[in-house]
Parts: sequence; structure tokens; C-alpha cells
Amino acid sequence: MELLDFDDDLTDDQLAASQIDGPQAEESIAHLLKALGENPERDGLKNTPRRVARMYSELLAGYHMDPVAMINGALFDVKYDEMVIVRDIEFYSMCEHHMLPFMGRVHVAYIPDGKVLGISKIPRVVDMYARRLQVQERMTRQIADFLRDLLKPQGVAVVVEVADHAVRGGPARQLDPPVRPEPVRSAEVDVGVDVTEGTAADVVDDEEL
Ligand SMILES: [Zn+2]
Repeated sequence: MELLDFDDDLTDDQLAASQIDGPQAEESIAHLLKALGENPERDGLKNTPRRVARMYSELLAGYHMDPVAMINGALFDVKYDEMVIVRDIEFYSMCEHHMLPFMGRVHVAYIPDGKVLGISKIPRVVDMYARRLQVQERMTRQIADFLRDLLKPQGVAVVVEVADHAVRGGPARQLDPPVRPEPVRSAEVDVGVDVTEGTAADVVDDEEL
């Protein structure tokens, strides 16, 4: 996943897709600066409202992403039922309590029941839920629910680790249905692939479960 750089060169399409009211957001940020005792007209702040509004368009674009378009046919029928694991999916989100960024990694595992999702799509699912005002526990639940509803797997587990937030929380775990912790541990023994770019996953032998 590409790192966010809060660039100012979002395309008009990207801005439109976020469905954020740009002019109103800019005006509000200028008001906020004033309320904070700042002068929004001074040189250093002149472009800040526009920059922040565009940053929100990028960081909060997840509300209007179309999951069906995102999955775009990458749903496959399979006969095997070995666990699929994607680890270390980096995410960047904003907490809804302070509108401050929080970031970390998501690990996803599921045991298919006839259907799998293309591996590269799992980070897209995470991204869709991360780009909203969030709390860690809800994001964890939303990712798990989405995969459960889409794939109807035998089981799905999502672990979210927050690496950095002004108010740090512990890892949130959502296991559905309840899965013994052993499968996840055994999956971590050695997946032998680099999944940080969301391009690979691994399968764990049944006897390890
Ligand atoms: Zn917060």
C-alpha cells in the first residue's frame, strides 16, 4: 500500500469521490484557526485550510468507496479449506474522538468454505474501513464482518495493532466464530513470505490447526 503523503495534487476525480464539501471544509478550518486565536490570513497559514480540507478528502475517503467495485470480480471458488493469512497490512486512520491520526498493522486470517478473495484485495478492504473517523475496535469488527458476509468462511480472525496514537490502546481482537488462539499462533511460525505489500499470503497445514 502506498504511504500517505497528504499531497495537494489529488485529482478532481479523487476529490469528488470523497464527497467531502471542499469549500465548506476550508471555510470551517479557517474559522477554527480564528477560534484558536490565529490569523488565518498570515503567510504560514494562508494555504492551510485548503491543505487540510484536501487531506481530509484523502484520509476520509472510505465512506464512499464501493466495495463491489473494489472487489471487482476477485472472488474465487476453491475446493480447499486451509487457512488464508495476510499479515502486516499497514493502515492509517483517524480517531473519531480527537480527529487525530492513528496507525498500525492489521492481520487477517480466515478458513474458506468454498470462496476466497484475491489476496491483493484484503489490504483494500482494510483501507476502506481505515479511511474514516474510527475507533480501533469498530474498525476491527467492520473488517471481520465484511469478510464474513462476503466469503461466508468457516472462521475469520482480524487483529489490529495500533502503533501510534495520542491515546494508545491495546490490540483489539475479533474472532468470529470464536477460534482457539492456537491457529493464529501456528500461522505465525513461518509463513515464509513477505505480505507487507499485500501481494502474498500463506496457507497453514491442517495438522497445525
Ligand atoms: Zn483519539
